[in-house]
Amino acid sequence: SVTDTDFLSLLEQAKNLAANPKVAPLTYDGKVAIVTGAGGGLGRAYSLLLARLGCAVVVNDLGGSATGQGSDSRAADKVVEEIRQAGGKAVANYDSVEDGDKVVETAIKAFGRVDIVVNNAGILRDKSFARMTDGDWDLVHRVHLRGTYKVTKAAWPHFLKQKYGRVINTASAVGLYGNFGQANYSAAKLGIVGLTKTLAIEGKKNNILVNVIAPNAGTRMTATVMPPEMVEAFKPEYVAPLIAFLGHESCPESGSIFEVGSGWIAKVRWQRSGGVGFSSSQPLLPEQIAKHWSDIVNFNDGRATHPTSTQEAFQQFMDNFANSAVSE
Ligand code: NAD
Repeated sequence: SVTDTDFLSLLEQAKNLAANPKVAPLTYDGKVAIVTGAGGGLGRAYSLLLARLGCAVVVNDLGGSATGQGSDSRAADKVVEEIRQAGGKAVANYDSVEDGDKVVETAIKAFGRVDIVVNNAGILRDKSFARMTDGDWDLVHRVHLRGTYKVTKAAWPHFLKQKYGRVINTASAVGLYGNFGQANYSAAKLGIVGLTKTLAIEGKKNNILVNVIAPNAGTRMTATVMPPEMVEAFKPEYVAPLIAFLGHESCPESGSIFEVGSGWIAKVRWQRSGGVGFSSSQPLLPEQIAKHWSDIVNFNDGRATHPTSTQEAFQQFMDNFANSAVSE
């Protein structure tokens, strides 16, 4: 397990690395970031790091419970205070991300611009699908998917005008792979992946880069499912540097998914099997599908691909029309 001493020594190493002239420091002077749900957990760690790198930060947090009840301005205020005491620039915003325009307005009023949006706010309403109510479904979608949409939508005109923007969204392994009791959350989180991919395409020509992370960290949200040693070891500070990289002007990446936590970072992509082409001039029978099922689901015959765009994915369908060597 990682102790505080280990962690401090890692931090020390990171500082030495930053002081090494061979590694250009990623500074954020003059830039303005909005971090939603920044009153605790991951969002707090992101805000502290961005502020330390010179970024002015809007610390947004509604300050409610982990299941989305109530509100409290103290969560955001505390983080703003921490940043200011360390010599950084920050202001608080207490609106729900559902009121994204108000969150962005705070950035414009306080700092005159917005360059980076980190959509991080989130809640849980875990229940088996059989017991899940419309309320559980809707609230989770409103905070995660609609909240991400609303804050990004309000920042977008500023990004277009200045031909610059960085958006980092937050999905979850649960969105990518599913999990018992989290139908609402997994659906909203994969929705955020789709939103990320389309915004990356629409933002490209104006230097607006949009990526999405699936983090793992010991926070209020995971304290109920992770053992205490794990909560301690999976520090949000291990995730924050990826945010500072993806949010930086030198970042080359867009439209990508990353899994990150405990100091480990990896990119995730889709894989599609080589597939089976049937004749497009004859009706396709379910029996033919049954006959070829093991080929349809085979990823190990050397024909699997990793399509990176809808156009690339669609090409296979076009090719099938021209393909005379079709399966019977
Ligand atoms: P957290 O509960 O510590 O932080 C979430 C913050 O969002 C809280 O401070 C909360 O007050 C705030 N918030 C909730 N609803 C809001 C709203 N409507 N408007 C503004 N703020 C609101 O949890 P965390 O683990 O730091 O989670 C951060 C993000 O990471 C979430 O989107 C979560 O789904 C995602 N995530 C976390 C993990 C993990 O391992 N911790 C795993 C996968 C995904």
